[in-house]
Amino acid sequence: MRTIGLLGGMSWESSIEYERMINTEVRRRLGGTHSADLVIRSYDFARIEELQANDDWAAAGRLLAADARRLEDAGAELIVLCTNTMHRVADVIEAAISVPFLHLADATARAVQAARVERVALLGTRYTMEHDFYRGRLERHGLEVVVPDADDREVVHRVIYDELVRGVVSPASKAAYLEVIRRLVGRGATGVIAGCTEIELLVGAADVAVPYFATTTLHALAAVDAALA
Ligand code: GLU
Repeated sequence: MRTIGLLGGMSWESSIEYERMINTEVRRRLGGTHSADLVIRSYDFARIEELQANDDWAAAGRLLAADARRLEDAGAELIVLCTNTMHRVADVIEAAISVPFLHLADATARAVQAARVERVALLGTRYTMEHDFYRGRLERHGLEVVVPDADDREVVHRVIYDELVRGVVSPASKAAYLEVIRRLVGRGATGVIAGCTEIELLVGAADVAVPYFATTTLHALAAVDAALA
């Protein structure tokens, strides 16, 4: 079994889900007292949020790349970045390491394609919904990506930063998300990507009428596949 390096704390509300899912899946596959072999770097998310708000992606890239390298030095044989948004600096991280980097958009795109969904809605932070690093990567897999309109993007983004990363899961925000999803399905989306690692804490597959792609789950399972391959 390969050692997985987790770059987490963005936020820890979802990183603990990664840890739980990866360990649970390793136990399911290997049985006995097996659990995952992990090295973890968990940030103070306030520091990351500040870099994002200042649009200082260069500094964020340097920070994450240096820590990915430290995870490798500590024994990690593959690197998992536990946030969609910070994949904005995935190239910088990949350039700093010599072990595989498991890109979240690739794991997600494979699942969307396997479900034969071609026009997929993307929910996430403003950065994920509006910048090209994530949408573009999905599109290069042949997917058509639909994002919420500006007002809805504001709602989706605000709930992530004001609530979900702070451990707040509110029924009103869940209802608001379901409305956003309803409008996206009305625009022809036949599947929905929960493209922020905290969203599946708020909305689950059972809440949505179309196929729902929960990125934390998909990424955690892809990490176990890679670790046990
Ligand atoms: N965890 C979130 C994501 O998957 C948002 C927090 C962050 O900006 O890293 O995008």
